[in-house]
Amino acid sequence: HQATFPQVKGLDTFDFEAIPSLNKSLVLELAGCEWIEQRESVIALGNAGTGKTHTALALGLVACQKNHSVFFSTAAALVHELMEARDERRLWALQKQLARVQLLIVDELGYVPFTVVGAELLFEVFSRRHEQGATLVTSNLPFDEWTSVFGSERLTGALLDRLTHHAHILEMNGDSYRLEVRKRRKNDK
Ligand code: ADP
Ligand code: MG
Repeated sequence: HQATFPQVKGLDTFDFEAIPSLNKSLVLELAGCEWIEQRESVIALGNAGTGKTHTALALGLVACQKNHSVFFSTAAALVHELMEARDERRLWALQKQLARVQLLIVDELGYVPFTVVGAELLFEVFSRRHEQGATLVTSNLPFDEWTSVFGSERLTGALLDRLTHHAHILEMNGDSYRLEVRKRRKNDK
């Protein structure tokens, strides 16, 4: 599957000083893409506006440049797509396609809670990918609040078990870059 990035953003335009909680050397190491070849996971956690999507796009971009297949979607859109595929009796094909891609990026997990069916379909995606392909997830919620998104504690436990098995965690809590830029603009005037 070709990458379907909403925007192109690279690490060259990322200001690491704006987000001190983020381990810069880890991000630079991840940009080498070895974790993708090793079929590991990256989970970026933090509040809104701290550069999670930017980082995910940048890691997706270097993966593309190294000829890895990448699929990018928000969690809500992916669940929507899965439900639609299920209704149209092509869920098997979509699940197979999602399992095959070398890097799956699921952005914005946590903003919208899933229905029971939605949660199960997404769980199936992560479950199939476990040790088969690399997965990058971004979330505004700490792990202990993921149950509120997936509904079931059992499902969330099983999901976190797989996702965090070989995972690199990017801690991205800090000031919103969007707000900071706006403040700076105001002060310049
Ligand atoms: P999040 O996904 O964590 O909510 P985004 O990645 O969408 O945040 O970042 C919000 C905006 O600010 C984007 O335009 C992004 O490119 C920019 N941005 C965020 N953090 C940084 C940073 N450290 N350096 C440069 N731009 C940043
Ligand atoms: Mg985002």
